[in-house]
Amino acid sequence: MDKGKFGRLDRLVKEKRRDPYQIKEKFPEPTVCTSCGAVFTGGRWVWMEEKPQKANRVLCPACRRIKEKMPAGNIVLSGRFLKSHGQEILNLVRNEEKAEKALHPLERIMDIHQDGDIIEIHTTGIHLAKRIGEAIRRSYQGDYQLEYPDGEKSVRITWHRD
Ligand SMILES: [Zn+2]
Repeated sequence: MDKGKFGRLDRLVKEKRRDPYQIKEKFPEPTVCTSCGAVFTGGRWVWMEEKPQKANRVLCPACRRIKEKMPAGNIVLSGRFLKSHGQEILNLVRNEEKAEKALHPLERIMDIHQDGDIIEIHTTGIHLAKRIGEAIRRSYQGDYQLEYPDGEKSVRITWHRD
């Protein structure tokens, strides 16, 4: 670990570091994630076909959330409508993830649990959660609610349709 690296950060960034999964966290460049292979370069995480050979290695913030089971986005879908349209909705969810993750490696689905009339989806990023919520609302109407339980660090979305 490069001890000098924190010395350059200004006060604003230091305050933001209280969130261990802060998406704006800086790493030496290039840094490669040891789990998913995403590369931190140019101040952001990207996918690269050819990984840099000499690189710092860490677990990226998304993989860390997955490992520690600490989702940033929590989506709960409920209602009888899921019985007839559950699979279709899950396809939509997966497509939204694919599009978001292609551009933003830290935005991923962690897991999906289905239990009768309830589907719960956890994401590593709040943007993906909002994107999925918006897509479901746009396509299927229903009762939709979005809240930030702890500032903008995480988002909770509930959707219901009978
Ligand atoms: Zn990773």
